[in-house]
Amino acid sequence: MYKLRRYSQVNQLVEAQNLTSFMRRLNYFKFLALQDKKMLEEMRLEKEKLERLQYQQMIKRQDLGIKARKQAEAKAQHEYQKKKEVARLLQVQKDKAYYEREMKALEAESRRIADYLRELYASRSNRMSTVPLGSGRFSSPILGGTMTSPYGWRVHPIFGTRRLHTGMDFGVGAGTPIRAADHGVVLDASWMGGYGKAVMIDHGQGIVTLYAHTSAFYVRPGQKVRKGQIIAAVGSTGYSTGPHLHLEVRKNGSPVDPLPWFR
Ligand SMILES: [Zn+2]
Repeated sequence: MYKLRRYSQVNQLVEAQNLTSFMRRLNYFKFLALQDKKMLEEMRLEKEKLERLQYQQMIKRQDLGIKARKQAEAKAQHEYQKKKEVARLLQVQKDKAYYEREMKALEAESRRIADYLRELYASRSNRMSTVPLGSGRFSSPILGGTMTSPYGWRVHPIFGTRRLHTGMDFGVGAGTPIRAADHGVVLDASWMGGYGKAVMIDHGQGIVTLYAHTSAFYVRPGQKVRKGQIIAAVGSTGYSTGPHLHLEVRKNGSPVDPLPWFR
């Protein structure tokens, strides 16, 4: 538009018939050129304004997008945490139910063993020795093994429930030989519920040792054993969370702290 007009202006100037007319036209064209310049400037400003506006709107849209995305992310994260918490609670309930079942099974088996021993002591055909068979001093059933959990009351770290640990544990690898703590006669070597595969040795005078969660027996009921003799292998049978020997000392059927016999 600008160029086109300039061309026609030159033509009109050339065609001017006198100076006055020429000067008038020149002034008029100068005015027009000025107007054009102003208009162009206005258009440029208008264009810039529009571009600025578009840019601002784009930024606003982006900000809104980021905000919406952040909100969605926060919501998803919150829902995920909620689901995780529910799953955790369900797992705890499941674990607790399993733990309680396990505890009840072990307690039931412990009572059954106590009843069984008391019946033996009370029966006429008493298989139990009334004279001491052993030395009265125990040697470790695990050669060089140390006790990892003592006899006594335990509070569950998560459930907070109290439970009597009826023996002492030796946490050692599966297959580790288990030795008779003292001389005696094998009373039983069989599956004993929550105790898994277990061996009981009569040491006379109401004292019996019990070796639980074993993986294999090397003795049979009625067999005489000597202190330190290998009688079984460590395992994780019955209610057990990993390979270990659970050793119990029974006095007239009831579990007592084995520690005094090791002193
Ligand atoms: Zn134990």
